[in-house]
Amino acid sequence: MKPRLTAPLFLLCVLVLTTTMAGSIHAKESAPVARHIILIIGDGMQPENEIAAGRYLTGRDDGLVFHTFPYRGFVATWDVTVYNRQAPRYGAAPYNPSAINPRVGCDAVPSGKTDARRNGPRYACRAPEGPKTHGADSASTATAWATGHKTDTGNIAWRPDDPERGSLTTIAELLRERRGYAIGIVTTVPFSDASPAAQVSHNKSRRNLHAISGEILRTSQPEVVIGGGHPARSGAGHMSMALYDELKNGGRGSYVLVERMDGVDAGKSLKEAAALAVAQKKKLFGLFGGPEGHFEPPVPTDNGSATLTRATSENPLLKDATRAALKVLSRNKNGFFLLVEQGDIDLANHGNDYRWMIGAMWDLDEAVRAAVEFVDRPGDDITWANTLLIVTSDHVTGSMRLNDGKRLGKGRLPAQSPGLCPDRLSWCAGYPGGEVSYSATSHLNEPVSLYAMGDSSLTRHLRQFEGSWYPCTPILDNTQLFHAMSNAAGIPQHSALKAIVTRPTSCPAGQ
Ligand SMILES: [Zn+2]
Repeated sequence: MKPRLTAPLFLLCVLVLTTTMAGSIHAKESAPVARHIILIIGDGMQPENEIAAGRYLTGRDDGLVFHTFPYRGFVATWDVTVYNRQAPRYGAAPYNPSAINPRVGCDAVPSGKTDARRNGPRYACRAPEGPKTHGADSASTATAWATGHKTDTGNIAWRPDDPERGSLTTIAELLRERRGYAIGIVTTVPFSDASPAAQVSHNKSRRNLHAISGEILRTSQPEVVIGGGHPARSGAGHMSMALYDELKNGGRGSYVLVERMDGVDAGKSLKEAAALAVAQKKKLFGLFGGPEGHFEPPVPTDNGSATLTRATSENPLLKDATRAALKVLSRNKNGFFLLVEQGDIDLANHGNDYRWMIGAMWDLDEAVRAAVEFVDRPGDDITWANTLLIVTSDHVTGSMRLNDGKRLGKGRLPAQSPGLCPDRLSWCAGYPGGEVSYSATSHLNEPVSLYAMGDSSLTRHLRQFEGSWYPCTPILDNTQLFHAMSNAAGIPQHSALKAIVTRPTSCPAGQ
Protein backbone atom coordinates (compact mmCIF):
# COMPACT_ATOMS: atom_id res chain seq x y z
CA MET A 1 0.00 0.00 0.00
CA LYS A 2 1.21 3.48 -0.86
CA PRO A 3 2.26 5.53 2.16
CA ARG A 4 -0.40 8.08 3.02
CA LEU A 5 1.96 10.68 4.35
CA THR A 6 2.68 12.35 1.04
CA ALA A 7 1.41 15.93 0.88
CA PRO A 8 -2.23 16.24 -0.17
CA LEU A 9 -3.20 18.80 -2.78
CA PHE A 10 -4.36 21.46 -0.38
CA LEU A 11 -1.97 23.70 1.50
CA LEU A 12 -0.31 22.29 4.56
CA CYS A 13 1.53 23.70 7.44
CA VAL A 14 3.67 21.44 9.56
CA LEU A 15 3.49 22.07 13.22
CA VAL A 16 5.92 20.65 15.70
CA LEU A 17 4.27 20.22 19.05
CA THR A 18 7.13 20.34 21.48
CA THR A 19 7.57 19.67 25.13
CA THR A 20 6.30 23.12 25.93
CA MET A 21 2.88 22.30 24.51
CA ALA A 22 1.71 20.21 27.40
CA GLY A 23 3.12 22.55 29.99
CA SER A 24 2.29 25.79 28.23
CA ILE A 25 -0.97 26.38 30.03
CA HIS A 26 0.14 27.07 33.54
CA ALA A 27 -2.58 27.29 36.10
CA LYS A 28 -2.68 30.79 37.51
CA GLU A 29 -2.56 31.01 41.29
CA SER A 30 -6.23 31.90 41.37
CA ALA A 31 -7.37 29.38 38.73
CA PRO A 32 -9.74 26.66 39.89
CA VAL A 33 -7.96 23.42 40.70
CA ALA A 34 -9.25 19.86 40.54
CA ARG A 35 -8.73 18.65 44.09
CA HIS A 36 -10.68 15.50 43.35
CA ILE A 37 -10.05 13.49 40.17
CA ILE A 38 -12.14 10.41 39.46
CA LEU A 39 -11.16 8.44 36.35
CA ILE A 40 -13.62 5.71 35.37
CA ILE A 41 -12.59 3.20 32.69
CA GLY A 42 -14.79 0.80 30.78
CA ASP A 43 -12.08 -1.67 29.80
CA GLY A 44 -12.39 -2.63 26.14
CA MET A 45 -15.53 -0.46 25.77
CA GLN A 46 -16.34 0.64 22.24
CA PRO A 47 -18.87 3.34 21.24
CA GLU A 48 -21.24 0.65 19.90
CA ASN A 49 -21.36 -0.97 23.38
CA GLU A 50 -22.58 2.35 24.77
CA ILE A 51 -25.43 2.49 22.23
CA ALA A 52 -26.39 -1.12 22.95
CA ALA A 53 -26.47 -0.49 26.72
CA GLY A 54 -28.36 2.79 26.24
CA ARG A 55 -31.03 1.02 24.19
CA TYR A 56 -31.30 -1.83 26.70
CA LEU A 57 -31.59 0.41 29.77
CA THR A 58 -33.62 3.33 28.41
CA GLY A 59 -34.56 2.65 24.79
CA ARG A 60 -32.30 5.52 23.71
CA ASP A 61 -28.91 5.50 21.98
CA ASP A 62 -27.63 8.17 24.40
CA GLY A 63 -29.30 6.74 27.50
CA LEU A 64 -26.32 6.27 29.85
CA VAL A 65 -25.50 8.51 32.80
CA PHE A 66 -22.26 9.73 31.24
CA HIS A 67 -24.06 10.64 28.02
CA THR A 68 -25.43 13.64 29.96
CA PHE A 69 -21.92 14.94 30.77
CA PRO A 70 -21.07 18.37 29.34
CA TYR A 71 -17.73 17.39 27.83
CA ARG A 72 -17.51 14.86 25.01
CA GLY A 73 -14.53 13.87 22.89
CA PHE A 74 -12.57 10.86 21.71
CA VAL A 75 -9.21 9.29 22.61
CA ALA A 76 -6.65 7.57 20.35
CA THR A 77 -5.30 4.44 22.01
CA TRP A 78 -2.28 3.17 20.02
CA ASP A 79 0.94 2.18 21.76
CA VAL A 80 4.60 1.78 20.69
CA THR A 81 4.01 -1.82 19.57
CA VAL A 82 1.14 -0.75 17.28
CA TYR A 83 3.16 2.22 15.97
CA ASN A 84 6.18 0.10 15.08
CA ARG A 85 4.03 -2.48 13.34
CA GLN A 86 2.37 0.20 11.24
CA ALA A 87 5.41 2.43 10.58
CA PRO A 88 6.74 0.50 7.53
CA ARG A 89 3.36 0.77 5.82
CA TYR A 90 3.64 4.56 6.10
CA GLY A 91 7.33 4.68 5.18
CA ALA A 92 7.98 6.03 8.66
CA ALA A 93 10.83 5.38 11.08
CA PRO A 94 10.27 3.28 14.21
CA TYR A 95 8.83 5.04 17.27
CA ASN A 96 10.96 7.89 18.52
CA PRO A 97 9.45 10.02 21.29
CA SER A 98 11.20 13.09 19.84
CA ALA A 99 9.65 12.70 16.38
CA ILE A 100 6.23 11.07 16.61
CA ASN A 101 3.97 11.08 13.58
CA PRO A 102 0.53 10.58 15.17
CA ARG A 103 -0.96 9.47 11.82
CA VAL A 104 1.20 6.34 11.98
CA GLY A 105 -0.50 5.48 15.28
CA CYS A 106 -3.99 6.57 14.24
CA ASP A 107 -4.76 7.99 10.81
CA ALA A 108 -8.09 9.32 12.06
CA VAL A 109 -11.05 9.57 9.70
CA PRO A 110 -14.80 10.00 10.28
CA SER A 111 -16.30 6.50 10.40
CA GLY A 112 -19.61 7.39 8.80
CA LYS A 113 -21.62 6.25 11.81
CA THR A 114 -23.25 8.98 13.85
CA ASP A 115 -22.09 9.39 17.40
CA ALA A 116 -24.65 8.73 20.16
CA ARG A 117 -24.24 12.12 21.80
CA ARG A 118 -23.45 14.63 19.12
CA ASN A 119 -24.94 15.13 15.70
CA GLY A 120 -21.57 14.32 14.16
CA PRO A 121 -19.48 11.37 13.11
CA ARG A 122 -17.67 8.77 15.11
CA TYR A 123 -14.05 8.20 14.19
CA ALA A 124 -11.92 5.30 13.04
CA CYS A 125 -8.20 4.86 12.47
CA ARG A 126 -7.42 3.81 8.90
CA ALA A 127 -6.11 0.26 9.04
CA PRO A 128 -2.93 -0.18 7.00
CA GLU A 129 -2.65 -3.86 8.00
CA GLY A 130 -6.04 -4.71 6.53
CA PRO A 131 -9.64 -4.36 7.62
CA LYS A 132 -8.87 -4.70 11.35
CA THR A 133 -5.68 -3.53 12.98
CA HIS A 134 -4.69 -5.17 16.25
CA GLY A 135 -4.65 -2.63 19.03
CA ALA A 136 -2.84 -1.82 22.25
CA ASP A 137 -3.47 -3.59 25.55
CA SER A 138 -4.59 -2.39 28.96
CA ALA A 139 -1.00 -2.18 30.26
CA SER A 140 0.38 0.23 27.66
CA THR A 141 -2.83 2.28 27.51
CA ALA A 142 -3.07 2.62 31.29
CA THR A 143 0.62 3.62 31.28
CA ALA A 144 -0.19 6.33 28.71
CA TRP A 145 -2.80 8.15 30.77
CA ALA A 146 -1.03 7.40 34.05
CA THR A 147 2.39 8.72 32.98
CA GLY A 148 2.11 10.69 29.71
CA HIS A 149 4.46 8.20 28.00
CA LYS A 150 3.81 5.74 25.20
CA THR A 151 5.21 2.28 25.85
CA ASP A 152 5.19 -1.30 24.56
CA THR A 153 2.22 -3.62 24.90
CA GLY A 154 2.46 -5.33 28.29
CA ASN A 155 4.49 -2.69 30.15
CA ILE A 156 3.23 -1.35 33.49
CA ALA A 157 4.37 2.30 34.00
CA TRP A 158 7.68 1.26 32.43
CA ARG A 159 9.54 2.72 29.43
CA PRO A 160 9.52 0.99 26.01
CA ASP A 161 12.27 -1.53 25.23
CA ASP A 162 12.39 -2.46 28.94
CA PRO A 163 15.50 -0.58 30.11
CA GLU A 164 16.68 -1.52 33.61
CA ARG A 165 15.85 1.94 34.96
CA GLY A 166 12.58 2.32 33.11
CA SER A 167 10.15 3.13 35.90
CA LEU A 168 7.77 6.03 35.12
CA THR A 169 6.11 8.31 37.69
CA THR A 170 2.32 8.02 37.62
CA ILE A 171 -0.35 10.67 38.00
CA ALA A 172 -1.43 9.08 41.29
CA GLU A 173 2.12 9.24 42.66
CA LEU A 174 2.53 12.80 41.44
CA LEU A 175 -0.72 13.98 43.03
CA ARG A 176 0.14 12.27 46.30
CA GLU A 177 3.68 13.64 46.40
CA ARG A 178 3.03 17.18 45.19
CA ARG A 179 -0.49 17.80 46.46
CA GLY A 180 -0.96 15.36 49.33
CA TYR A 181 -3.87 13.60 47.62
CA ALA A 182 -5.11 10.25 48.86
CA ILE A 183 -5.13 7.65 46.05
CA GLY A 184 -7.31 4.65 45.31
CA ILE A 185 -7.84 1.89 42.77
CA VAL A 186 -11.10 0.01 42.31
CA THR A 187 -11.70 -2.73 39.74
CA THR A 188 -14.03 -5.64 39.03
CA VAL A 189 -11.07 -7.78 37.89
CA PRO A 190 -7.97 -8.69 39.95
CA PHE A 191 -6.50 -5.60 41.61
CA SER A 192 -3.07 -6.52 40.20
CA ASP A 193 -4.43 -6.49 36.63
CA ALA A 194 -3.02 -3.97 34.17
CA SER A 195 -5.37 -0.96 34.37
CA PRO A 196 -5.23 -0.50 38.16
CA ALA A 197 -1.63 -1.75 38.41
CA ALA A 198 -0.24 0.93 36.08
CA GLN A 199 -1.47 3.66 38.46
CA VAL A 200 0.44 2.42 41.49
CA SER A 201 3.16 -0.03 40.42
CA HIS A 202 5.93 -0.36 37.83
CA ASN A 203 6.99 -3.45 35.94
CA LYS A 204 8.44 -4.58 32.62
CA SER A 205 5.60 -7.07 32.29
CA ARG A 206 1.97 -7.17 33.37
CA ARG A 207 2.48 -10.90 33.91
CA ASN A 208 4.69 -10.41 36.97
CA LEU A 209 1.60 -10.38 39.18
CA HIS A 210 3.28 -11.31 42.46
CA ALA A 211 5.80 -8.48 42.10
CA ILE A 212 3.01 -6.08 41.07
CA SER A 213 0.62 -7.00 43.90
CA GLY A 214 3.53 -6.87 46.36
CA GLU A 215 4.52 -3.40 45.19
CA ILE A 216 0.93 -2.18 45.44
CA LEU A 217 0.25 -3.43 48.97
CA ARG A 218 3.71 -3.20 50.54
CA THR A 219 5.27 -0.17 48.83
CA SER A 220 2.79 2.14 47.09
CA GLN A 221 0.07 1.36 49.61
CA PRO A 222 -2.80 3.36 48.09
CA GLU A 223 -5.37 4.49 50.64
CA VAL A 224 -7.92 2.26 48.88
CA VAL A 225 -7.49 -1.00 46.96
CA ILE A 226 -10.67 -2.89 46.00
CA GLY A 227 -10.73 -5.65 43.42
CA GLY A 228 -10.86 -9.32 42.54
CA GLY A 229 -8.17 -11.97 42.58
CA HIS A 230 -8.92 -13.53 45.97
CA PRO A 231 -6.40 -16.42 46.22
CA ALA A 232 -8.87 -18.68 48.03
CA ARG A 233 -11.26 -18.37 45.05
CA SER A 234 -9.06 -18.13 41.97
CA GLY A 235 -5.70 -19.47 43.16
CA ALA A 236 -2.54 -17.62 44.03
CA GLY A 237 -1.87 -16.33 40.52
CA HIS A 238 -2.89 -12.73 41.22
CA MET A 239 -1.24 -12.38 44.64
CA SER A 240 0.95 -14.73 46.63
CA MET A 241 -0.41 -16.60 49.64
CA ALA A 242 2.40 -15.01 51.68
CA LEU A 243 1.10 -11.54 50.82
CA TYR A 244 -2.49 -12.58 51.52
CA ASP A 245 -1.52 -14.04 54.91
CA GLU A 246 0.42 -10.87 55.71
CA LEU A 247 -2.64 -8.71 55.07
CA LYS A 248 -4.95 -11.18 56.83
CA ASN A 249 -2.78 -11.07 59.95
CA GLY A 250 -2.84 -7.32 60.12
CA GLY A 251 0.19 -6.80 57.92
CA ARG A 252 1.83 -3.54 58.79
CA GLY A 253 -1.32 -2.42 60.52
CA SER A 254 -2.25 -0.03 57.77
CA TYR A 255 -5.16 -1.78 56.06
CA VAL A 256 -8.63 -2.82 57.10
CA LEU A 257 -9.14 -6.04 55.11
CA VAL A 258 -12.61 -6.98 53.94
CA GLU A 259 -12.91 -10.11 51.82
CA ARG A 260 -15.36 -12.41 50.14
CA MET A 261 -17.16 -14.65 52.63
CA ASP A 262 -19.70 -17.42 52.06
CA GLY A 263 -23.24 -16.08 52.37
CA VAL A 264 -22.16 -12.54 53.23
CA ASP A 265 -23.44 -9.61 51.15
CA ALA A 266 -20.28 -7.92 49.92
CA GLY A 267 -21.96 -4.56 49.38
CA LYS A 268 -22.85 -4.48 53.08
CA SER A 269 -19.51 -5.75 54.39
CA LEU A 270 -17.61 -3.32 52.19
CA LYS A 271 -19.69 -0.40 53.46
CA GLU A 272 -19.01 -1.40 57.07
CA ALA A 273 -15.29 -1.85 56.39
CA ALA A 274 -15.10 1.62 54.81
CA ALA A 275 -16.74 3.13 57.91
CA LEU A 276 -14.27 1.23 60.11
CA ALA A 277 -11.30 2.42 58.05
CA VAL A 278 -12.48 6.02 58.43
CA ALA A 279 -13.06 5.61 62.18
CA GLN A 280 -9.67 3.96 62.74
CA LYS A 281 -7.81 6.24 60.29
CA LYS A 282 -6.70 3.20 58.29
CA LYS A 283 -6.56 2.29 54.63
CA LEU A 284 -9.05 -0.06 52.97
CA PHE A 285 -8.32 -3.31 51.12
CA GLY A 286 -11.35 -5.09 49.65
CA LEU A 287 -10.52 -8.51 48.19
CA PHE A 288 -13.23 -10.36 46.30
CA GLY A 289 -13.77 -12.28 43.06
CA GLY A 290 -14.94 -15.67 41.82
CA PRO A 291 -13.16 -18.62 40.23
CA GLU A 292 -11.97 -16.48 37.31
CA GLY A 293 -10.75 -13.73 39.62
CA HIS A 294 -13.40 -11.16 38.71
CA PHE A 295 -16.65 -9.94 40.28
CA GLU A 296 -19.14 -11.88 38.11
CA PRO A 297 -21.30 -9.03 36.77
CA PRO A 298 -25.10 -8.85 36.90
CA VAL A 299 -27.20 -10.79 34.41
CA PRO A 300 -29.71 -8.81 32.30
CA THR A 301 -33.29 -10.09 31.85
CA ASP A 302 -34.99 -10.29 28.45
CA ASN A 303 -38.55 -9.33 29.38
CA GLY A 304 -38.65 -5.65 28.51
CA SER A 305 -38.21 -4.52 32.12
CA ALA A 306 -34.50 -3.64 31.78
CA THR A 307 -33.77 -5.19 35.16
CA LEU A 308 -30.70 -7.19 36.08
CA THR A 309 -30.08 -9.84 38.68
CA ARG A 310 -26.87 -10.15 40.64
CA ALA A 311 -24.77 -13.17 39.73
CA THR A 312 -23.83 -13.42 43.41
CA SER A 313 -24.17 -11.11 46.37
CA GLU A 314 -20.77 -12.27 47.65
CA ASN A 315 -19.07 -9.82 45.28
CA PRO A 316 -19.83 -6.10 45.45
CA LEU A 317 -21.33 -4.20 42.57
CA LEU A 318 -18.95 -1.63 41.15
CA LYS A 319 -21.13 1.16 42.59
CA ASP A 320 -20.74 -0.32 46.09
CA ALA A 321 -16.98 -0.43 45.66
CA THR A 322 -16.92 3.12 44.26
CA ARG A 323 -18.96 4.49 47.20
CA ALA A 324 -16.73 2.72 49.73
CA ALA A 325 -13.61 4.10 48.06
CA LEU A 326 -14.98 7.63 47.95
CA LYS A 327 -15.95 7.47 51.62
CA VAL A 328 -12.39 6.59 52.64
CA LEU A 329 -10.62 8.92 50.18
CA SER A 330 -12.79 11.96 50.96
CA ARG A 331 -11.51 11.87 54.55
CA ASN A 332 -8.32 13.45 53.19
CA LYS A 333 -8.87 17.22 53.10
CA ASN A 334 -6.03 17.75 50.59
CA GLY A 335 -7.92 15.89 47.86
CA PHE A 336 -7.90 12.53 46.14
CA PHE A 337 -7.36 10.59 42.91
CA LEU A 338 -9.49 7.52 42.26
CA LEU A 339 -9.30 5.06 39.38
CA VAL A 340 -12.41 2.91 38.88
CA GLU A 341 -12.40 0.16 36.25
CA GLN A 342 -15.18 -2.08 34.96
CA GLY A 343 -12.96 -4.82 33.55
CA ASP A 344 -15.61 -7.30 32.42
CA ILE A 345 -16.61 -5.27 29.34
CA ASP A 346 -13.30 -6.33 27.80
CA LEU A 347 -13.76 -9.97 28.81
CA ALA A 348 -17.31 -10.03 27.42
CA ASN A 349 -16.22 -8.47 24.14
CA HIS A 350 -13.39 -10.98 23.75
CA GLY A 351 -16.05 -13.71 23.88
CA ASN A 352 -18.46 -11.71 21.65
CA ASP A 353 -20.89 -12.15 24.57
CA TYR A 354 -23.64 -9.51 24.31
CA ARG A 355 -25.46 -10.39 27.56
CA TRP A 356 -22.29 -10.32 29.62
CA MET A 357 -21.39 -6.98 27.98
CA ILE A 358 -24.80 -5.47 28.84
CA GLY A 359 -24.47 -6.61 32.47
CA ALA A 360 -20.98 -5.11 32.70
CA MET A 361 -22.07 -1.86 31.01
CA TRP A 362 -24.93 -1.49 33.52
CA ASP A 363 -22.45 -2.05 36.34
CA LEU A 364 -20.23 0.70 34.88
CA ASP A 365 -23.12 3.11 34.39
CA GLU A 366 -24.33 2.59 37.97
CA ALA A 367 -20.81 3.28 39.26
CA VAL A 368 -20.73 6.52 37.30
CA ARG A 369 -24.12 7.44 38.79
CA ALA A 370 -22.78 6.71 42.29
CA ALA A 371 -19.77 8.96 41.69
CA VAL A 372 -21.99 11.79 40.40
CA GLU A 373 -24.29 11.46 43.42
CA PHE A 374 -21.32 11.50 45.76
CA VAL A 375 -20.11 14.82 44.35
CA ASP A 376 -23.67 16.19 44.29
CA ARG A 377 -24.17 15.56 48.02
CA PRO A 378 -24.54 18.79 49.96
CA GLY A 379 -22.72 19.46 53.20
CA ASP A 380 -19.11 18.95 52.18
CA ASP A 381 -16.49 20.76 50.13
CA ILE A 382 -16.56 18.25 47.26
CA THR A 383 -18.32 20.06 44.43
CA TRP A 384 -18.15 20.27 40.63
CA ALA A 385 -16.06 23.43 41.02
CA ASN A 386 -13.17 21.33 42.37
CA THR A 387 -13.89 17.85 40.98
CA LEU A 388 -13.07 16.41 37.58
CA LEU A 389 -14.86 13.16 36.69
CA ILE A 390 -13.65 11.48 33.50
CA VAL A 391 -15.25 8.42 31.88
CA THR A 392 -13.47 6.72 29.00
CA SER A 393 -12.17 3.40 27.70
CA ASP A 394 -8.64 2.13 27.24
CA HIS A 395 -9.04 0.37 23.88
CA VAL A 396 -11.70 -1.22 21.70
CA THR A 397 -12.26 -4.96 22.00
CA GLY A 398 -14.25 -7.15 19.62
CA SER A 399 -15.79 -4.83 17.01
CA MET A 400 -19.48 -5.30 17.76
CA ARG A 401 -22.03 -3.90 15.31
CA LEU A 402 -25.76 -3.45 15.91
CA ASN A 403 -28.13 -4.13 13.03
CA ASP A 404 -30.41 -1.10 13.02
CA GLY A 405 -32.81 -2.95 10.72
CA LYS A 406 -33.47 -5.27 13.67
CA ARG A 407 -33.29 -2.72 16.45
CA LEU A 408 -33.66 -4.11 19.97
CA GLY A 409 -36.04 -2.23 22.26
CA LYS A 410 -35.72 -1.37 25.92
CA GLY A 411 -35.03 -4.41 28.07
CA ARG A 412 -34.58 -6.68 25.06
CA LEU A 413 -31.67 -8.99 24.23
CA PRO A 414 -30.85 -10.91 21.04
CA ALA A 415 -31.20 -14.68 20.98
CA GLN A 416 -27.74 -15.94 21.86
CA SER A 417 -26.30 -19.38 21.19
CA PRO A 418 -22.82 -20.86 20.95
CA GLY A 419 -21.15 -20.24 17.61
CA LEU A 420 -17.75 -20.01 16.01
CA CYS A 421 -15.69 -16.92 16.72
CA PRO A 422 -14.87 -14.64 13.76
CA ASP A 423 -11.45 -16.32 13.62
CA ARG A 424 -13.35 -19.63 13.11
CA LEU A 425 -10.92 -21.30 15.50
CA SER A 426 -12.69 -21.07 18.85
CA TRP A 427 -16.15 -20.75 20.39
CA CYS A 428 -17.92 -17.44 20.95
CA ALA A 429 -21.52 -16.42 21.42
CA GLY A 430 -23.49 -16.37 18.14
CA TYR A 431 -26.61 -14.44 17.09
CA PRO A 432 -28.93 -16.42 14.78
CA GLY A 433 -31.44 -13.54 14.63
CA GLY A 434 -28.87 -11.15 13.16
CA GLU A 435 -29.61 -8.28 15.59
CA VAL A 436 -25.92 -8.01 16.42
CA SER A 437 -22.68 -9.17 14.84
CA TYR A 438 -19.02 -9.25 15.79
CA SER A 439 -16.07 -9.24 13.42
CA ALA A 440 -13.22 -9.78 15.88
CA THR A 441 -12.38 -11.14 19.32
CA SER A 442 -9.18 -9.13 19.80
CA HIS A 443 -8.21 -5.56 20.73
CA LEU A 444 -8.56 -3.13 17.82
CA ASN A 445 -6.82 0.14 17.09
CA GLU A 446 -9.85 2.45 17.20
CA PRO A 447 -10.59 5.71 19.03
CA VAL A 448 -12.72 5.40 22.16
CA SER A 449 -15.23 7.81 23.72
CA LEU A 450 -14.30 10.40 26.32
CA TYR A 451 -16.73 12.11 28.69
CA ALA A 452 -16.09 14.52 31.52
CA MET A 453 -18.09 16.25 34.20
CA GLY A 454 -16.88 19.24 36.14
CA ASP A 455 -16.77 23.00 35.96
CA SER A 456 -15.87 24.23 32.45
CA SER A 457 -12.69 25.70 34.00
CA LEU A 458 -11.65 22.07 34.64
CA THR A 459 -12.95 20.33 31.51
CA ARG A 460 -11.17 22.96 29.38
CA HIS A 461 -7.97 21.10 30.23
CA LEU A 462 -9.27 18.24 28.08
CA ARG A 463 -10.61 20.53 25.36
CA GLN A 464 -7.23 22.24 24.93
CA PHE A 465 -5.72 19.06 23.48
CA GLU A 466 -8.53 18.27 21.01
CA GLY A 467 -7.17 17.77 17.51
CA SER A 468 -3.63 18.87 18.42
CA TRP A 469 -2.25 15.49 17.31
CA TYR A 470 -5.21 14.53 15.09
CA PRO A 471 -6.18 17.65 13.10
CA CYS A 472 -9.80 18.38 12.25
CA THR A 473 -11.08 15.90 14.86
CA PRO A 474 -12.13 16.11 18.54
CA ILE A 475 -9.62 13.34 19.33
CA LEU A 476 -7.07 13.55 22.14
CA ASP A 477 -4.11 11.24 22.50
CA ASN A 478 -4.26 8.97 25.55
CA THR A 479 -0.94 10.44 26.76
CA GLN A 480 -2.65 13.85 26.81
CA LEU A 481 -5.10 12.64 29.46
CA PHE A 482 -2.12 12.63 31.84
CA HIS A 483 -1.42 16.28 31.02
CA ALA A 484 -5.09 17.25 31.19
CA MET A 485 -5.28 15.79 34.72
CA SER A 486 -2.00 17.27 35.95
CA ASN A 487 -2.88 20.67 34.45
CA ALA A 488 -6.32 20.53 36.06
CA ALA A 489 -4.65 19.76 39.41
CA GLY A 490 -2.46 22.83 38.96
CA ILE A 491 0.82 20.95 38.51
CA PRO A 492 1.55 21.07 34.76
CA GLN A 493 4.22 18.62 33.65
CA HIS A 494 6.59 18.80 30.71
CA SER A 495 5.98 16.21 28.05
CA ALA A 496 8.88 14.10 26.77
CA LEU A 497 6.91 13.52 23.57
CA LYS A 498 7.31 15.64 20.48
CA ALA A 499 4.70 15.18 17.75
CA ILE A 500 5.21 16.36 14.19
CA VAL A 501 1.73 17.11 12.91
CA THR A 502 0.78 17.86 9.33
CA ARG A 503 -2.11 20.26 9.57
CA PRO A 504 -4.31 21.50 6.72
CA THR A 505 -4.97 25.24 6.59
CA SER A 506 -8.71 24.51 6.84
CA CYS A 507 -10.71 21.46 7.86
CA PRO A 508 -13.21 19.74 5.56
CA ALA A 509 -16.79 20.90 6.20
CA GLY A 510 -18.55 19.07 9.01
CA GLN A 511 -15.43 18.08 10.92
ZN1 LIG B 1 -8.62 -7.59 26.57
